[in-house]
Amino acid sequence: MKDPAHRWQWHALDAAVGAVTADCTECGLCVKHCAFLQRHGTPRAMAAHADSGHENGLIVAYECSLCGLCHAVCPFGVNPAQFFLEQRREAVLRGVGPLAAHRPLLAYERKGTSRRYSLYALPEGCTTVFFPGCTFAGTRAEAVLAMHDLLRRSLPRVGIVLDCCTKPSHDLGRQAYFLAMFGEMKDFLVNQGVRTVLVACPNCYKVFQSYGSPLQVRTIYERLTEEALPRQDLLRGTVTLHDPCVLRHEPAVQDAVRSLVHHVGLQVMEMPNSRERTLCCGEGGGVGVVAPELARQWSVERARQAEKDPVVTSCAGCAAQLRRFMPTVHVVDLLLDGQRALAGKARVSRSPFTYWKRLRLKATLKRRFSSARLRERTFQPKP
Ligand code: SF4
Ligand code: SF4
Repeated sequence: MKDPAHRWQWHALDAAVGAVTADCTECGLCVKHCAFLQRHGTPRAMAAHADSGHENGLIVAYECSLCGLCHAVCPFGVNPAQFFLEQRREAVLRGVGPLAAHRPLLAYERKGTSRRYSLYALPEGCTTVFFPGCTFAGTRAEAVLAMHDLLRRSLPRVGIVLDCCTKPSHDLGRQAYFLAMFGEMKDFLVNQGVRTVLVACPNCYKVFQSYGSPLQVRTIYERLTEEALPRQDLLRGTVTLHDPCVLRHEPAVQDAVRSLVHHVGLQVMEMPNSRERTLCCGEGGGVGVVAPELARQWSVERARQAEKDPVVTSCAGCAAQLRRFMPTVHVVDLLLDGQRALAGKARVSRSPFTYWKRLRLKATLKRRFSSARLRERTFQPKP
């Protein structure tokens, strides 16, 4: 049953249904690219069945990766991904979402925002912070310190924030929780005089870009193209690039990553689906725990398109997912020690050691920032 207290959400879902119904001609272009739509029908057909009362219909939306490829290929500008996100939000308001299978993902997020794992270190006069994000910090704690060292050369007062942007909650439809958690973080940073956030994770980028105003967000990859990078012997060979789907509309970031790959001496072979038409790696939208076969199809298609070249990406989550199907390295691994990275020996931690690495990283940063303003996050929204 619809709860009258959530009238605003009905409007959002109704508007999304209306937009799909009005503009989708069922041309099938997006369906051709997406196994989820092949399983459930065209966006218009799904919108026609999206009406009230059917909670099972809402739960189906948890099989969509929210990758946005459908929107990118649609000649009529329809945005089915927004419709599926609104369905997830409606599922949460009706108490049927997120699903039991999402608990580990939410536990991961909760740890990231906890007092134990979070750290805000803001030196006097700090207006820019480095925000590595949970997965990059856990898998590459040494790289976080190395990137912070690099940034400090030109930004001596750069601070650092270890926290979670809460995109898992956002993507699972927990919009009220997400807005409260992200809003508290943003307000704190703004009140402390921070103006710019440099992120390593494309998902954090998307969150800050969409909800972080007046904070400005940039990726460290764009910033690194302006820095004097560590010297290493030039590498030889060709790699291919996986553009994270959340960055499909960000040509400046895509160019920066390509420029960093060229900087270490490598050639880039573009995949058939790149840049604006890039594919999900298989990790998007938490689909892996609900419909693993759909998530796997994205990864397998990526491996097919990569042919035999190693894949380079700027997302630690994509790198972890894709490396199960093909040799995959993070662009930061390439910059720090390209030979090791291409040989599959980059310093990358795996779960459960990632948690221990994050605690060690936090301890190191507390020493590094001993004279800075420090905070650990204790905020929890009211139920
Ligand atoms: S967002 Fe991605 S997974 Fe979802 S319907 Fe569109 S193309 Fe398919
Ligand atoms: S590409 Fe656009 S018009 Fe064609 S089926 Fe998909 S949403 Fe509908």
